[in-house]
Amino acid sequence: MTQSYDDMLQPAELEENWQDDANCLGVDPDLFFPERGASTREAKEVCRGCVVREQCLEFALQNGEKFGIWGGLSERERRRIRRQRAQAARSIIGA
Ligand code: SF4
Repeated sequence: MTQSYDDMLQPAELEENWQDDANCLGVDPDLFFPERGASTREAKEVCRGCVVREQCLEFALQNGEKFGIWGGLSERERRRIRRQRAQAARSIIGA
């Protein structure tokens, strides 16, 4: 069996490389960091078809990104996921 290039990469390197396939490459970054109360719809549209959406979201969750649209989700939506994960972890520990 042949090993692909990705198989040989370490997790940290893989984390960096996902950005090469991002749908938002070349898109105005301001779109992903809208002013408070401004629409996030356009940014989420760009994310919708992004092949690295999951990696992007996971990166933001792991790094505690507090601002902007990552993986198609807003700060509030990511906070909800972090809370759900924390609750799930507590229930496993408490089980
Ligand atoms: S999910 Fe959205 S913000 Fe993340 S890389 Fe893709 S297009 Fe960019």
